[in-house]
Amino acid sequence: MSPATPTGTKALIAKLKTLGIETDFDLLLHFPIRYEDHSRLWDVSDVIEGDAVLVEGVVLAAGVQERPRRSLKATLDCGSGVLQLRFLHFYPGHKQLLSVGNRLRVFGTVRQGYSGREMIQPKCRQVAPGEPMAAGLTPIYPVKAGIRSSTLAKRIQALLADFPFADLVPDAALDALGLPGLRESLYALHRPQTAELQGDVVRTRCPAWRRVKFDELLAQQLSMRTHYLSRLQHKAPRMDSDSLGRQLEGALPFPLTSAQSMAIAAIRADLAREVPMQRLLQGDVGCGKTIIAVLAALQAVESGFQVAFMSPTETLAEQHYQKLSAWLRPLGIELAWLAGAMPKQEQEQAARSIHQGAAQIAIGTHALFQQRVAFKRLGLVIIDEQQKFGVHQRLALQQKGTMPHQLMLSATPIPRTLSMSYFANLDVTTIDELPPGRKPVATRLVRAARRDQVVDHVREICANGRQAYWVCPLIEGSATLQLQAVTEVFQTLVEELPGLRVELVHGRMKSAEKTEAMTRFMTGEAALLVATTVIEVGVDVPNASLMVIENAERMGLAQLHQLRGRVGRGGESGTCILLYQEPLSEDARQRLRIIYENSDGFEVARQDMLLRGTGELLGIAQSGAPMLRFADIEQDQDLLEAAKACAERMLEHAPDAAQKHMSRWLGARANYLHV
Ligand code: ADP
Ligand code: MG
Repeated sequence: MSPATPTGTKALIAKLKTLGIETDFDLLLHFPIRYEDHSRLWDVSDVIEGDAVLVEGVVLAAGVQERPRRSLKATLDCGSGVLQLRFLHFYPGHKQLLSVGNRLRVFGTVRQGYSGREMIQPKCRQVAPGEPMAAGLTPIYPVKAGIRSSTLAKRIQALLADFPFADLVPDAALDALGLPGLRESLYALHRPQTAELQGDVVRTRCPAWRRVKFDELLAQQLSMRTHYLSRLQHKAPRMDSDSLGRQLEGALPFPLTSAQSMAIAAIRADLAREVPMQRLLQGDVGCGKTIIAVLAALQAVESGFQVAFMSPTETLAEQHYQKLSAWLRPLGIELAWLAGAMPKQEQEQAARSIHQGAAQIAIGTHALFQQRVAFKRLGLVIIDEQQKFGVHQRLALQQKGTMPHQLMLSATPIPRTLSMSYFANLDVTTIDELPPGRKPVATRLVRAARRDQVVDHVREICANGRQAYWVCPLIEGSATLQLQAVTEVFQTLVEELPGLRVELVHGRMKSAEKTEAMTRFMTGEAALLVATTVIEVGVDVPNASLMVIENAERMGLAQLHQLRGRVGRGGESGTCILLYQEPLSEDARQRLRIIYENSDGFEVARQDMLLRGTGELLGIAQSGAPMLRFADIEQDQDLLEAAKACAERMLEHAPDAAQKHMSRWLGARANYLHV
């Protein structure tokens, strides 16, 4: 059953589509950006300057004026006073409308001009004396693609009058939250009776809005929960031997933190069950998620299954490969490494060893999804930096095995309580402490004009045997410009720092060159690594204690926090210098303040969420699933929790209504939410 598409000409349907409106229900979710009050007339003398109001009057005089700028001016006698009207854009129709003696209703913002009160470019309509007023507020819709707000208003009104939609949410849930009915809520938002709906503050509290947000959250919860339950129906391989893992644990140069121990205990228990694990392991940059993933992998290997370990970048995949080799080769584990940029022959060799089952752990980028890579006995999929992957990539890998266990690692921390409520399709474990001995990274904000001092600082710390990263400006949209920028920065630094070995790493380099450069940095042969944001995730060089980021004002908070987490890992305190270019936009200023004031990733994430809304943060934006358009999981936490509980009950007691609600809200997109 597919939800009804809006009726209308093909052209109109196509235009609606560009607004994201594919069904009648979508159309009802296209809410006004603001309302105009055409329901009462104002006395000109009562209006406060800056208010948008409706007044009525008779045209006293009108004419085109050439200076200071060609404009059409008219004087309106409103009884209680006169009002000047000024049009900078006008058409023949305007002149006619403004003929002396015409009675007009005009809507616009009143301001004080040279010659008294005026409205610039108001909306005008000719009326007969005593013409009735509009009932309620007039909605103004966001428009583009050549659809007028009034066209949308008409269609939406017709739908509201007709209202073919049943209210699917159980009364008990609505009553508990004091939420109004569906039709009533939509009516109130499209055609409110009072001015109460104006403004964002009211918007979040008004019951009609809360009803819409609740329904949105309910749709997401239903969808995620459905998927979760359906996975529970499947069998996954049971893996209950963990002696290899315990052996490695004993051989590590450090004890696990208690948060790490709790995380691996939960994972071990999951793997030992026949139900497919669906667990998100989240924790701040540097909290030590990799070793936990490796311990989980060993449990799968020991039970005779293969593991796919996937990373978002080649640099990171390779680093994992090296690190895992060092840890696991002594235990006799066979590893394979697969990346898109590898020579064909090596790729084929790796694919063969994965296919034949010789490789027990396959590490790679999304190259692991390629059609010709088939696992012999895939039992566990580990997705590192999960937030970086798109939904299709994640899906592709899952289909390689029957129903492998799945462990996702994420450094984009979502406050714990929030993620527990939000992710109805995942079990969530949070590592909430860093290994002992880490010193917080000191963050400094430095104007680009003082770059010389930063270069001096690099020279100094490298002379003391430490190492540094220098991350180059992000240039959006052009790989060529990006390449040019990073190369220039590299050359300049080479000249400025004679006697220091400087390496360069960027996304366009050949795999082998990148590896060589990285290796020289990792072994300490090179003191400074100039890089694009390819090193953003995961790279781990304990001796590096300084991170310089150019054009920090252009980067997102999550990215800055990730980059900053690259230093101060060796027990020495680290420093992160954010070079910024003036003038700063308000938004950039906010971001730099947040990163400067907060060292805890959870707090950075929370502030980020407030600044941007939640969708992007949760990785939903990249996953292809719709972001939350109305609800905000932090501000609307009560609704989120209620929606979660309601979803569980509906799936049990009213599965049909649950289905309808999902398809109404998510349509074809419902499937994407599952991953
Ligand atoms: P992330 O969680 O960001 O992926 P990593 O797994 O890369 O972090 O770990 C960061 C560094 O901390 C690595 O060098 C790792 O070996 C080290 N590490 C992990 N756990 C501990 C621990 N319990 N004690 C000390 N160092 C640890
Ligand atoms: Mg990591």
